[in-house]
Amino acid sequence: MAESTNKLKSHVLILPYPVQGHLNPMVQFAKRLVSKNVKVTIATTTYTASSITTPSLSVEPISDGFDSIPIATPGSSIDLYSETFKLLGSEALTRLIEKSKSTESPIDCLVYDSFLPWGLEVARSMEVSAASFFTNNLTVCSVLRKFSNGTFPLPADPNSAPFLIRGLPSLRYDELPSFVGRHWFSHPEHGRVLLNQFPNHENADWLFVNGFEGLETQDCEIGESEAMRATLIGPMIPSAYLDGRIKDDKDYGASLMKPVSDECMEWLGTKPNQSVVFVSFGSFGVIFEKQLVEVAMALQESNLSFLWVIKEAHIAKLPEGFVESTKDRALLVSWVNQLEVLAHESIGCFLTHCGWNSTLEGLSLGVPMVGVPQWSDQMNDAKFVEQVWKVGYRAKEEDGEAIVKSKEVVRCLKGVMEGESSVKIRESSKKWKYLAVKAMSEGGSSDRSINEFIESLGKKH
Ligand code: UDP
Repeated sequence: MAESTNKLKSHVLILPYPVQGHLNPMVQFAKRLVSKNVKVTIATTTYTASSITTPSLSVEPISDGFDSIPIATPGSSIDLYSETFKLLGSEALTRLIEKSKSTESPIDCLVYDSFLPWGLEVARSMEVSAASFFTNNLTVCSVLRKFSNGTFPLPADPNSAPFLIRGLPSLRYDELPSFVGRHWFSHPEHGRVLLNQFPNHENADWLFVNGFEGLETQDCEIGESEAMRATLIGPMIPSAYLDGRIKDDKDYGASLMKPVSDECMEWLGTKPNQSVVFVSFGSFGVIFEKQLVEVAMALQESNLSFLWVIKEAHIAKLPEGFVESTKDRALLVSWVNQLEVLAHESIGCFLTHCGWNSTLEGLSLGVPMVGVPQWSDQMNDAKFVEQVWKVGYRAKEEDGEAIVKSKEVVRCLKGVMEGESSVKIRESSKKWKYLAVKAMSEGGSSDRSINEFIESLGKKH
């Protein structure tokens, strides 16, 4: 599978932020590079290192100061976390790069998660090239950048006219990343992490975004695009679901939790094609309690079969009688291999929180979606699902309440699963699946961009 033209193997060090939604695309990027004859080392926290199970990748555990607990432990301070990781991580990366200099394959480039912008300082001080990897989409990055540099005042004003960035769809207040708007005051630490991606990003040699040409950008009638100037290298999902060029690449190979696999596949196998709703609110499972109840009521009312990835603590909060009354058509599980589920022919709809990875996965596998976004970039991603790609719906909140009522969720589910709307949505889903696969296939736009990156490393040898 060696495609690269560089003679001496280049060596890339990859530093992900240690949560599932960042590990997945960055480990996938690592596997892509390896398939193109690049040596890759992943430097990740002691807590997450053992979750990376791909034999072709070297893994170097580094301390973030919290070796025995996951980063998202309730009550922990994100500011303290960021500070400690910066201090310990910078030292550890410096040592790793230094050590590699006396080997046959010195590190050429550090690809760091944009949530860890100190990676750039390490790369510069060690004289290796630097690439910042953004795990949000291009629109979210571009709008956050404008908030970060003061072009748009913080916090966003709910009564403001739509936020315009030439070359991208305009965004209403309720389509912005919530941490610069609705959740600015309640979650200031999250806002700081997002805005902190930008102060030095333009000095990096490469900015990578997990998207592909034509996914978000629009032609400009006048002037140049104001989208962040990034290299689009996605969709970063396992090759088996796209071009199939990486052998046996069926999962990300970085799961922090053990998936319930056989039981799900067996259960899905008993269902007719395109009849099941797959419900997941992502790796954190963040869903506000009132919203959880409305979603449950919608699933009850819809009479559809559903597979729900739900936390134990949330099961206890479901409406009384819910589990009993739906048990003939429902399976509740704690964690799945999401791609394996989405690819199953029985799945007819993905009811999702619209995290960026989940959204790209649904799009790339051609599964129609109903978005019930909760916070962060999810509102923006849900806008794309309904308005831009037309592969599903964003369930609408009741006026004045940050909550989607059950009847609205039912409306969206029926729209995806039944009638003429379903036919149109499935046509668009097919089209986007085709485009996603094309971008990553040989000669596709993302494939070419990755090759260019690799060639730039080769020139150093
Ligand atoms: N995921 C999974 N199994 C689950 C739930 C989620 O494998 O049961 C994966 C999913 O495929 C995606 C990631 O976890 O790649 C979640 O990332 P996303 O950006 O969608 O949401 P986040 O968890 O960051 O909110």
